Amino acid sequence: MESLETILRRVWGYDQFRPLQAEAMQCVLAGRDSVVVLPTGGGKSLCFQAPALAMPGLAVVVSPLISLMKDQVDTLVDNGVAAASVNSTLDASERREIAERIRREELKLLYLSPERLMTPRTLDFLRTINISFFAVDEAHCISDWGHDFRPEYRMLRQLKELFPQVGVHGYTATATERVRHDIARELQLREPEILVGSFDRPNLIYRIERRGDLVRQVREVIDRHRDDSGIIYCIRRADVESLAASLVAAGYSALPYHAGLDDQVRRKNQDDFLNDRVRIIVATVAFGMGIDKSDVRYVIHTGAPKSLEQFQQESGRAGRDGLEAECCLFYTGGDFGIWRKMQSELPPEAYKVALQVLRGIEDFCGGVTCRHRAIVEYFGQTFESENCQACDVCLSEIDVIDDPLVIGQKILSSVLRQGEAYGAEYTALVLTGSREQRILDSGHDQLSTWGLLKDEGKRAVRDWIEQLTGQGFLERAGDDAKFQVLKVTTAGRRLLRGEVAPRLLKPQVKEKREGRVSTVSWEGVDRGLFEVLRAWRRKRAEARGLPPFVVFSDATLRSLARHRPSTPERLLDVHGIGQAKAADYGAEVLEKIAEYCRPNGLPRDVFDVPPPRRQPATSDVSGSAAKHEAMRLFRQGRSVADVCQAVGRSRSTVSDYLAEMIVAEEISDPTFWIDAHSFARIRAAAARCGLDRLKPLYEALEGTVTYEDLRIAAACLRNAPPTP
Ligand code: ADP
Repeated sequence: MESLETILRRVWGYDQFRPLQAEAMQCVLAGRDSVVVLPTGGGKSLCFQAPALAMPGLAVVVSPLISLMKDQVDTLVDNGVAAASVNSTLDASERREIAERIRREELKLLYLSPERLMTPRTLDFLRTINISFFAVDEAHCISDWGHDFRPEYRMLRQLKELFPQVGVHGYTATATERVRHDIARELQLREPEILVGSFDRPNLIYRIERRGDLVRQVREVIDRHRDDSGIIYCIRRADVESLAASLVAAGYSALPYHAGLDDQVRRKNQDDFLNDRVRIIVATVAFGMGIDKSDVRYVIHTGAPKSLEQFQQESGRAGRDGLEAECCLFYTGGDFGIWRKMQSELPPEAYKVALQVLRGIEDFCGGVTCRHRAIVEYFGQTFESENCQACDVCLSEIDVIDDPLVIGQKILSSVLRQGEAYGAEYTALVLTGSREQRILDSGHDQLSTWGLLKDEGKRAVRDWIEQLTGQGFLERAGDDAKFQVLKVTTAGRRLLRGEVAPRLLKPQVKEKREGRVSTVSWEGVDRGLFEVLRAWRRKRAEARGLPPFVVFSDATLRSLARHRPSTPERLLDVHGIGQAKAADYGAEVLEKIAEYCRPNGLPRDVFDVPPPRRQPATSDVSGSAAKHEAMRLFRQGRSVADVCQAVGRSRSTVSDYLAEMIVAEEISDPTFWIDAHSFARIRAAAARCGLDRLKPLYEALEGTVTYEDLRIAAACLRNAPPTP
């Protein structure tokens, strides 16, 4: 059996598993049922695709949408994998041909919808062949707690009874415990392994801003990504239409997408976007599942979504290729009112849940803590990094006020004096000295807090109330959406005593924000060559009737424009190029590179620079944040060169961090970071010269090992001293 590592390299041209991929694949090989939860872009498909190639027999993949099946099958076939899907777009003879290929044991993966899989005819057929395993993609569709419940998925309950010997595996990006549990139960999995990855997407940069002049705000984001693909979400269809029209009028390449459009128009707009014929799609939530495009460089929300789950799903469509991408959210308090109204038709129980969920996103928007942390903690995980280096808060892009404690205390004491019986709007009116009748009626114009924040303006006070709620100093109580009252929490009481301070934003939205886009993943990339290759990719994809990202991802194009290989062998060293791609496109790509490099005098085969991995490194990271981050990456087994890139520190500084971590965590094996041969030599030398000083070691090894490596090795050897 070919090893998974070899398959990863040969077929996909990748040299490392992403987190949990190896574990998920081992479950498949071992025939142990599993539920795998990885965020969008985490690499779920590979978890079943690679084992399908390693195992004898046919893997059956259940998928909810034809477009999803098509993208996956196209990508597999383009990588030289024998895969097919049976769906309503095929005629009888095409279906027969696939059946024949299965009988001849040629096919490795077969994609089906649940309803097609569970027809007696398909089941009878499958009983006659050797099935390696069943993979249920988008498995949350089986749970009515998920956001995409599909009753057809419930039919899959019988799989385990009908094929008791065959492993069944569910894959989803949906984070909640409840959904996970439903998947295992509904699929009747036997003692399943449940693998849950981190919900953090470090390559996404989050920015949240109050909505002001929306078109200007949106254009600022687009202008940072001039030639890139982006998705803009709006809450209502009318907003989709008007924003798309404004963008087109301003000369941008944009199309609308919503459920009110004619089917054909909608499909065409989607295809134009997927095939890079148009750069921007402006859409409602209807534009969603089935969008596998890997090179979406930004997602903009022009209003708050109805839940943080939804925000994570939608913003998660950016940067699936692992390269940095930007997610911007523009909102106003009114958005939550719209959602409350839209959901008020729900049955009472469901409405209650919806309100609770809405509060989560409300807090997220108003919060002024690290966005990555807020998301990860919302989903019940812990976030270790002090500074994510990838959100407006951690990048210090937001303006905080100088006296947040005093303002916070004024607001909270007003809430208390009002008897904790009024909402945010009312509280803001009191604090800004309103003489509205209801305030006079309740005598609140007599409170000492009345008019205390008159000079700040009502809008600013409303925002601060949201921020205080987002940070847990206030909470909203009451199920009646229209009348949610504010209460001071325990943390709020500490704030009143001056023991903790909130973070509050300056009221005005800055006129022009710089909004940095990280350029680390562009390091060493020749932009001109990248554009040449991108143009070639578009043409090539069109000729083959494939979306461009199926031919090569942006990450692969950047690798090509960075390393500029000169031979077919070196081409295989490029990220994302396996044997089939090299055979299919290699000659043309090499020619394009040669044509570009020759007149520009660019060197070829530049492989000695490590590709940047962790993207958003900035120079303003404080020393301790850099150290913390470096250690986190080292714990993941990342190399010294990698970590240097990621935290923007010198090799010697980063080696010091590593040595410190080795001491603290009593690590004795440094071969993650220095090669085994060098380590063996250092160990032998240390047995003779001891470990007190590095200089004698350095000299004993005649300068062939760097001081950095010596420091790392010595730290390990001190934990497990060599015997003379
Ligand atoms: P998901 O289904 O979890 O959203 P995909 O399976 O579509 O994610 O993978 C996202 C992208 O990451 C794809 O372009 C895929 O080829 C790529 N990918 C998956 N695994 C790896 C890996 N180990 N190394 C590099 N890229 C990977």
